[in-house]
Amino acid sequence: MNKAFTREPDPDGREHCPRCGSVGTAVSKTTLDWHVHEQSRSGLGDSASFCDFARCDVVYFDQFDRTVTVNELQSSVYPKDPAAPICACFGFSLEDVEADVEQGTPVRIRELLEKSKSSDARCLTLAADGRCCVREVQRLYMKGTADRGY
Ligand SMILES: [Zn+2]
Repeated sequence: MNKAFTREPDPDGREHCPRCGSVGTAVSKTTLDWHVHEQSRSGLGDSASFCDFARCDVVYFDQFDRTVTVNELQSSVYPKDPAAPICACFGFSLEDVEADVEQGTPVRIRELLEKSKSSDARCLTLAADGRCCVREVQRLYMKGTADRGY
């Protein structure tokens, strides 16, 4: 049976998006309260998972297959909207990553790394998956430089 249509969680307890089958990232009440529009918030409990597959409309889902889609959010989030900031705390975007790739030195990313350690970082609340964006930013930079053959 197609993995996308089974509702067996992974052995480590992770849930799959009921729409696209991607493995979700568990998010907390804090994250959901911030991102989900008031009218839709009651449709989910206090624990849900984030689907990080860019082309999937489902943003949050729970183990009962209840979902919150992109148009039920307070504002658009990366990667559902590639123009939304990757780092919601400091407004770091895909353009910033590309500018660093262009330059061949991760100047902006290093600055972001510094800021991410400060108390101004509010990833748990502001990030759609409740996690720090640094890993994703570094992944994008490395992918960008590899694509250019650096
Ligand atoms: Zn999905």
